[in-house]
Amino acid sequence: MEHVIRTLSDRSRFAQAGMFVATFVFILFVIGAFSGETEAAESEPEVIPTLATVLFEAEDYGHPRPMVRQDTTLQPRETLSGLMSRLDIPAGDAHRAMMSLIDAGYIDTRRLRPGLAVSTFTDEAELTALAIDIEPGRRLLTKRVDGSSFLPVEIKSKLSVRQEVIRGTITNSLYRDGRELGAGDQQVVDFAQVFAYDVDFQRELYPGDEFELVYDVMVDERGEVIRRGDVHYAALRGGAVDKAFYRFTTGDDNVTDYFQFNGESATRFLMKTPINGARLSSSFGPRRHPISGYNRMHKGTDFAAPTGTPVYAAGHGTVERASRNGGYGNYVRIRHANGYKTAYAHLSRYGPGIRSGKRVRQGDIIGYVGSTGASTGPHLHYEVHVNGRAVNAMTLKLPTGRKLEMAPEMFAEFQVRRDEIDAARALSDLPEPALMAANDLPTANGNAVENH
Ligand SMILES: [Zn+2]
Repeated sequence: MEHVIRTLSDRSRFAQAGMFVATFVFILFVIGAFSGETEAAESEPEVIPTLATVLFEAEDYGHPRPMVRQDTTLQPRETLSGLMSRLDIPAGDAHRAMMSLIDAGYIDTRRLRPGLAVSTFTDEAELTALAIDIEPGRRLLTKRVDGSSFLPVEIKSKLSVRQEVIRGTITNSLYRDGRELGAGDQQVVDFAQVFAYDVDFQRELYPGDEFELVYDVMVDERGEVIRRGDVHYAALRGGAVDKAFYRFTTGDDNVTDYFQFNGESATRFLMKTPINGARLSSSFGPRRHPISGYNRMHKGTDFAAPTGTPVYAAGHGTVERASRNGGYGNYVRIRHANGYKTAYAHLSRYGPGIRSGKRVRQGDIIGYVGSTGASTGPHLHYEVHVNGRAVNAMTLKLPTGRKLEMAPEMFAEFQVRRDEIDAARALSDLPEPALMAANDLPTANGNAVENH
C-alpha cells in the first residue's frame, strides 16, 4: 500500500526553518502518522493533507513534492535492511536511518520479530523518514534532518489493549458493512485476505450473509481508541461459505496464519480472489454463473472492481511478463511451482518494482485494477494455467495448507489460543444474528456483460 502525501519537504527550507520548527513539525508529523488509519483499501493513492503541510503553508507555497508512504511488515527471515531494499529504499539512506535507531539504543536488529509494522516515507526516491511500531504504544521514528543525517525519536503513549467483537450482515460490501460497525480499513482488508484463498468475493458472497470479526483495539488513558490492531477471528456464514478462522502463530517457524477450528490453515497454494476483496460486492459487476464465474470464451474469471483496487500475486512465484499484451492491456503473468501460472489483465498500472524476473510472494501487490486493452469497464481478468492450459480458477481443487493436527503439541497450543478467542466472543453481548434461510438468497441475475 502506498500513500501520496503532499508536504513541503523542500529540505533547504526545512533547514532554514530552524530546529524549533523542525522539531515541532516532526512531532506533528509523528502524531499524524501514528493516529492515521491505514488506508490499505483505498483504491487510488490519496492526497492526504498533513498537519505539517498546514503549518508550513503560510510561509511557503513553493513547490510541494509528493511524499510516498509505504506501509509493510517484516517478513519471516527478513532483515530490516532486506525490508528496506524490498521497498526500493536507497541502501545508503536505509543504512543511515537504521544506524540512527541502533546508535540511540532504540533497536537491536537481531531482536526484531516478523510482523513488525514498518513505514517508510520517500521523496523522489530519497528516504525522508522511517517509522517502526516496535510495540503497541511505542513508535520509533527517525527523520532526515539535513542533507544526509537522521534524527531518531521515540514516541510513547500509555495504551491498553482490548478485543473488540463485531457481528453483522452483509448488505452492500464487506468493506462498507464492516466499517459501519467500527472496524478500520486494515481490519476489513485483513478479513478479506483470510478468505481470499477459498472464496470468490464477487460471486460467493451475498447480501444477507453474516460475518463476525474479533480484533484488538488500543485504548489510551482517556479511553479513546488510538488504533485498531490484529484480527484474531474472522467468520463468514452464508449461502456459499460457512467458515471461521482463528489467528495463530506457529511456534516452529514463527509464521502467523489463520486456522479453522480443526487446525487447518486458511492459506492455499493460490488465492481464489487475488484482489482486495473487501470492496467487491456481488451487485457491483456482471455475474455469470453463481459459483463458477468462469467465462469459457476467454478462459478467465472477471472481478469487476473500482479502478485502482490492488491486485495481489495469487501465489509465490516469479514474474514472467509485465507489459502491454494486446487486448489484455497491461498484463502480468507469474510462474509458480508445479507447472502453474497465473495472469492478470487490464491493469491500470503495475505494482512497485513489478517487472519480468522479479520474485513475488503471495499477496504482494503486482498491479491495480484498470480497463486497459479490450475492456469496457474496470475489472480484473484473472487466468490460471496448468501446464499451459487455462483452467477454471474458481472450481480448481487446490491442496489445503498446513494442518496443525499433524503436530500434536502445536495443535494443543492452538486449541488454547482458539478457546481464549472463543471466550472473548462469548463475553460479547452482541446477539448472534439469525442465519438467513438458504432459499432466500439471491440467485445469479444473468446480466452477463462481456467486458473483456
Ligand atoms: Zn475477462
